[in-house]
Amino acid sequence: MLLPLPLPEALDYLIPEDASAPEAGSFVRVTLGQRNLVGVVWDGTGGELPLARLKPIRETLPAPRLRAELRRFVERVAAYTMAPPGSVLRMTMSVPEALQSPRPRRLCVLSSAGLVALADSAAGKNLTQTRRRVLGALRDNCALAVAELARVAACSAGVVRDLLAAGLIEEYLAPTDPADIALPDWRLRGPTLSPDQSAAARRLVDTVEAGRFGVTVLDGVTGSGKTETYFAALAAALAAGQQVLVLLPEIALGAQWLERFRQRFGILPAQWHSDIGHAERRDTWRAVAAGRARVVVGARSALFLPFPELGLIIVDEEHDPSYKQEDGVCYQARDMAVLRASLAQIPIILVSATPSLETVVNVARGRYARVALPRRHASAELPAVRLIDLRRERIERGHFIAPPLVAELTQTFEAGEQALLFLNRRGYAPLTLCRACGHRFQCPSCTAWLVEHRFTGRLLCHHCGHAEALPPCCPECLTAGALVPCGPGVERLLEEVTRCFPGVRPALMVSDLLPGPRAAAELAQGMTERRYDVLIGTQLVAKGHHFPMLTLVGVVDADLGLAGGDLRAAERTYQLLHQVGGRAGRAEHKGRVLIQTWMPDQPVMKALASGDRDRFLAAEAAARRHSGLPPFGRLAALIVSAADAETCDFTARALSRAAPQLPGITVLGPAPAPLAVLRGRHRRRFLIKAGREVRLQAVLRDWLSRVRAASSARIQVDIDPYGFL
Ligand code: ADP
Ligand code: ZN
Repeated sequence: MLLPLPLPEALDYLIPEDASAPEAGSFVRVTLGQRNLVGVVWDGTGGELPLARLKPIRETLPAPRLRAELRRFVERVAAYTMAPPGSVLRMTMSVPEALQSPRPRRLCVLSSAGLVALADSAAGKNLTQTRRRVLGALRDNCALAVAELARVAACSAGVVRDLLAAGLIEEYLAPTDPADIALPDWRLRGPTLSPDQSAAARRLVDTVEAGRFGVTVLDGVTGSGKTETYFAALAAALAAGQQVLVLLPEIALGAQWLERFRQRFGILPAQWHSDIGHAERRDTWRAVAAGRARVVVGARSALFLPFPELGLIIVDEEHDPSYKQEDGVCYQARDMAVLRASLAQIPIILVSATPSLETVVNVARGRYARVALPRRHASAELPAVRLIDLRRERIERGHFIAPPLVAELTQTFEAGEQALLFLNRRGYAPLTLCRACGHRFQCPSCTAWLVEHRFTGRLLCHHCGHAEALPPCCPECLTAGALVPCGPGVERLLEEVTRCFPGVRPALMVSDLLPGPRAAAELAQGMTERRYDVLIGTQLVAKGHHFPMLTLVGVVDADLGLAGGDLRAAERTYQLLHQVGGRAGRAEHKGRVLIQTWMPDQPVMKALASGDRDRFLAAEAAARRHSGLPPFGRLAALIVSAADAETCDFTARALSRAAPQLPGITVLGPAPAPLAVLRGRHRRRFLIKAGREVRLQAVLRDWLSRVRAASSARIQVDIDPYGFL
């Protein structure tokens, strides 16, 4: 029996005498100490405790069993990430209520009055836009729960309740799970594919029809129609009666993606991410397990859903760093998706305009197939990219947009086109200091400066969330009016744009000022409808958006991502800036990208300007191979943390004394982590470098088993680390 707890292994329980043995994969209720828990009957475990000491299984739950394929997946993810199997299991059963018999649900339908109001303009003349949208959504979807309906119609639950009160909508009690849920219609015709797209789609469809494990990389420039192309493969899987999982980074913001799916397949897919509510999560889990949800689009955790008929996995923006989970079970969802596909013996498609070096190297080694889309769709051309050398520009103090970019912005606005200003920094200014005494505001529980957020009037720690009010005078020397912001954040950029371009309508897209995905979607809609002239934002704006009138992209500080010890810094900078630049000129109007940098001679900046991605990747690969870094060598990090520095150092020293001394393995550290204190905990890091042939997990397991850590210290293992803080 495996319990969803961080225990080292499965536990034994007794089968009650009056019951037959539950099959492997069954969900059962048991007690552990005082706790009442649900676990999964695991195969291949058992037996050293005397029977007399075993406790009985109390009940077998009515949920569909966890299939063998998913059980093997749990084991393999646990073995790879070195997390306890129970912690991985927990991700597959993240909504415990889903395991109970479903209770009847209250669903909304159109009442006859509602139907009339919708159909007859005289009867419906008092309807607001929003109310009309709700009624329309019900007409399209038959029956929905209040929360679902509010989401589909992009309004608050209050609007739906008002309509209920007004009698335009009725509620009824649906017995259990809906049996006749609408299914995505793969027979609908999508847009006619271009010859390039058709050829690529054909190859993807072939992998689906072959029905074997295989990884195919869909490598296409921004705006080449990758989505339309992989939709063809998705349709083929649906036609074959299979379920499909699409992983997207930051799915919550993928409103445009969802709308395209709806246009192509007639309904919205099931969604799985942190922004969906509890009830919907429970329903989705059940719908996936019962095979009623045919397509799920989700963030990385969707990988652990219990699909019974999974036939295809698609990982869009496969290079995106948000696929790496950095806390709890540290896993790379793209890599684990490949593992899941191989266990399920199904094809997987990795999609990107800027594939990760890992993926590029796997293509070169012949392990992954590659399908390319080298041109933008229709008449759209790739934007021209130009560097602005900040060493040569004279910019007024407190301003951050150099004259060439100002000129381009002016031209763009005069032509009635739209611009995007990208700065990957939230808040007003990254550092606030006192001009009189030099005092800097630091987080009380982290090794980090506090960032001023002017709109909310607060100083914030971006690592732990600590917030304090910006005081009127310096807390150190008490001088009033001496606090000055240093450097730009998006809020300050907005101020500059407002000042320099009066009459221009700016919009700010940044996570902390948007209450949720709906607000982000509305903002994007506003851009499409040209209610704004310039969008200013952080990496939120980089992904997926398609604004036909956006022709100019300005990158305000291209060097931001290059600082720090991240081995992928250059690669990520390339991916991110290329992605942002890809927002420009996606329709008839040609796009321009201006990149402000202090380091125009850096290979990554040169590659961005020349568009020679493959040469950049080759140079990057050569450098990594030379220093034995991934994907040419293996890396793991150990992070020791404790509430006080002594305990932390004590454990770090114990680890250091027991460090493996084996050929092909280098242990660096312990060193104070760059974030030496995080959320009040002191941190030390080890970095373990090994050759590709080394069985790194076995080495680490042996090492950790030989060390007695202080009981209050925590040791976190991160295989293939992406963050180095
Ligand atoms: P990518 O994902 O490669 O950046 P998209 O799939 O977002 O590209 O396509 C870019 C734009 O071109 C979208 O608005 C899409 O609807 C449109 N498009 C792509 N292929 C076609 C096609 N064959 N017919 C019509 N429109 C297309
Ligand atoms: Zn902090």
